[in-house]
Amino acid sequence: MKRLLLILALGMPATILAAAPPVGIVIHGGAGTIDRSQMSSEQQKNYEATLAEAVNKGYELLAAGGSSVDAVTLAVTVLENSPLFNAGKGAVYTWEETHELDAAIMMGQDRNAGAVASVTTVKNPILLARAVMEKSEHVMLTGKGAEQFALAQQLEQVDNSYFNTEFRYEALKRARQAQQSVPHQAAIIPDPNWKMGTVGAVAIDKDGNLAAATSTGGMTAKRWGRVGDVPVIGAGNFADNTSCAVSGTGHGEYFIRYNVASDICARVKYQGKNAAVAAKEVITELLDAGGTGGVIVVDAQGELSWAFNTPGMYRAKRNHRGTVIEIFADESEKISN
Ligand code: ASP
Repeated sequence: MKRLLLILALGMPATILAAAPPVGIVIHGGAGTIDRSQMSSEQQKNYEATLAEAVNKGYELLAAGGSSVDAVTLAVTVLENSPLFNAGKGAVYTWEETHELDAAIMMGQDRNAGAVASVTTVKNPILLARAVMEKSEHVMLTGKGAEQFALAQQLEQVDNSYFNTEFRYEALKRARQAQQSVPHQAAIIPDPNWKMGTVGAVAIDKDGNLAAATSTGGMTAKRWGRVGDVPVIGAGNFADNTSCAVSGTGHGEYFIRYNVASDICARVKYQGKNAAVAAKEVITELLDAGGTGGVIVVDAQGELSWAFNTPGMYRAKRNHRGTVIEIFADESEKISN
């Protein structure tokens, strides 16, 4: 009997023997000082509803057999179109009272990637990053050139004032005051009501392919063409089928210097660590270095996780086990030291 089973097993294709990992998606809407006492229940409901819309649309696409790259693109587009988050419509202000947006996308099966930096008139920068990945021979386009490419790709363009919101303008005024007292490098002082609000998504599809997408308006009151971690592949966004996919949010200068997203995946790949453990390690080390923020992660087995060192991170995940939507740190494991 044993021999019969063995013969049957040997005859089966490997895909039947090894169950495919379950499809799943994790999204974030930024990490920061998200204080329960400062948020009305109506505001909280609005955030939760938008997170639910993004995670559900992404998951439904995956469940219907769609690809992870389509799922992360869709989820990030939903978040970019909301004024609540610091990406697309709700992008923060630069020092000069304009908006400069960054975005990146990456696919785990071939490590193909696309990124854009400092774009000012593209309604959905994540769609432009995807076009760079799929329709150009480059990985990163910036500023005016990126906008010319967007025009050629017939992506929707808007006036820069489309990104204006009252709430972000107030944040700019506070940040300018704070920066005037400490004008040195990497001292973009977070607003006292600091809610960074960058958005991102990571997913795994039915073929086991991973993808990551991230979009941001950057840091409030940024100057001189500052570009953050988001379009720097491996800093704020990374995907590799042999390890994991990561999207980050937080103080970009630290994410660039510590290569946060690719460092997490390198620990999985070369040290054989569990992705959630690797994420916690890197985010804890980031805090030790003075950097604040968080990440969402999916690994090649379909495990969905997050780690952050701030009082809150807008976040949601969904797989066959169900949906989780959270905002505050005390709802799950906050890392602090
Ligand atoms: N990481 C983004 C940046 O530094 C900001 C954020 O996550 O809110 O550009």
